[in-house]
Amino acid sequence: MDSAPGRRRRRVRHVFGEHLLWGVDQDVGVLGFEGEVQIEPGERVLEFADRLATTVAPGDAQRMQERQFDRPVLGEQGGGVLAARDGGEEFEQPADIVLLCAYAINNVHLMLLSGVGEPYDPVAQKGVIGKNYCYQTGAGATLFFEGRHFNPFMSAGGSNATIDDFNINGDFDRGKHGFVGGYNVAGGFNTALPIGYRPVPRGTPQWGKAWKAATAKWYQTAMNIGASGSVMANRYNYYDLDPTYRNAFGQPLMRMTFDYKENEHKIGQHAAQVINDIAKSMNPTRLNEATVRTRWTVVPYQSTHNTGGTIMGANPRDSALNKYLQSWDCHNLFVVGANVFPHNASYNPTGPVGALAYWTADAVKNRYFKDPGPLVPA
Ligand SMILES: Cc1cc2nc3c(=O)[nH]c(=O)nc-3n(C[C@H](O)[C@H](O)[C@H](O)COP(=O)(O)OP(=O)(O)OC[C@H]3O[C@@H](n4cnc5c(N)ncnc54)[C@H](O)[C@@H]3O)c2cc1C
Repeated sequence: MDSAPGRRRRRVRHVFGEHLLWGVDQDVGVLGFEGEVQIEPGERVLEFADRLATTVAPGDAQRMQERQFDRPVLGEQGGGVLAARDGGEEFEQPADIVLLCAYAINNVHLMLLSGVGEPYDPVAQKGVIGKNYCYQTGAGATLFFEGRHFNPFMSAGGSNATIDDFNINGDFDRGKHGFVGGYNVAGGFNTALPIGYRPVPRGTPQWGKAWKAATAKWYQTAMNIGASGSVMANRYNYYDLDPTYRNAFGQPLMRMTFDYKENEHKIGQHAAQVINDIAKSMNPTRLNEATVRTRWTVVPYQSTHNTGGTIMGANPRDSALNKYLQSWDCHNLFVVGANVFPHNASYNPTGPVGALAYWTADAVKNRYFKDPGPLVPA
């Protein structure tokens, strides 16, 4: 983007390495070539560039969360973002590269709002922005062992024991069970929250004296065996812009269309059977058997492992981004998050999200800055 008259320029000392990763990891980032950013006099958006150049100051994260970014303005000659400060005042931030790292769902939303890439049409099955939305499926059983004391209040997710026999194990013939993908099984405790964790045997009244007595009796004695299953992309699950509801900036909200289909049902049936077999072999006093999740529901909390929507792939016909998470449409736009996963592979997403952030940071630093343009030929 050309320098507008009167625009001040500020030199940023370090835009690479860990500071770039702060940007990749945390927020919508705006970088300038050769360490320069262009700003209007007095604009607080300087903090944005400062975040990439210096250690994040206390309070920055809060300010970044309050800030709502609008359309990236991108093109062959550079670009930037339109943004709004707290209070709604809009401004434009020129930049040579935009790193979009606003969480999986928000990244897709911003792409749809920006008009970068063709939105997915589930009827025509064309377009790439919004497609392949995936989540996780699962099943869980609660086991009660009268007289045992598990002290769940001092437990942690990492203390679970996990088996992968029905997930990445290539010897498991899932074909005869009629599904692709798989699931991992974990036994033990996750974070046993003081109010949220109140395991009681099925059939216990859901409130009142009998419920209180049951929570006191069984709290120490319960453990869980749960499965987290993959969800494959299909034409029916996708994101688009809501035709009715808008946010405070007048923009259409994101709309998510999702439900479990036959593949997930079959995974869930298999997982529930395996879990119940394991649970019964442990001979609990009482058992809340695992059941299949047939319909998706927004309650209760299951996981926040949303994936897909702007997937990476081998060509612009089927994907929004190339393998460096670079937009096929705007070569100076990189999009980092679980939105790049073509499907949900059952495990929690953040490890690969972090690994891909490093991968992209390396590509920006060592490839793109040296030779700006598409890193993969279309
Ligand atoms: C309760 C809970 C438990 C979880 N447990 C696990 C787990 O056990 N294992 C696991 O792998 N994952 C877990 N996750 C998921 C994990 O938190 C995410 O996968 C991970 O944080 C994604 O990283 P990210 O950098 O893509 O997005 P985020 O960490 O969400 O960062 C995005 C940032 O962008 C900012 N932002 C958003 N929109 C805008 C905008 N328009 N303008 C400017 N800034 C914006 C946000 O404020 C945020 O700071 C859990 C999530 C939750 C909520």
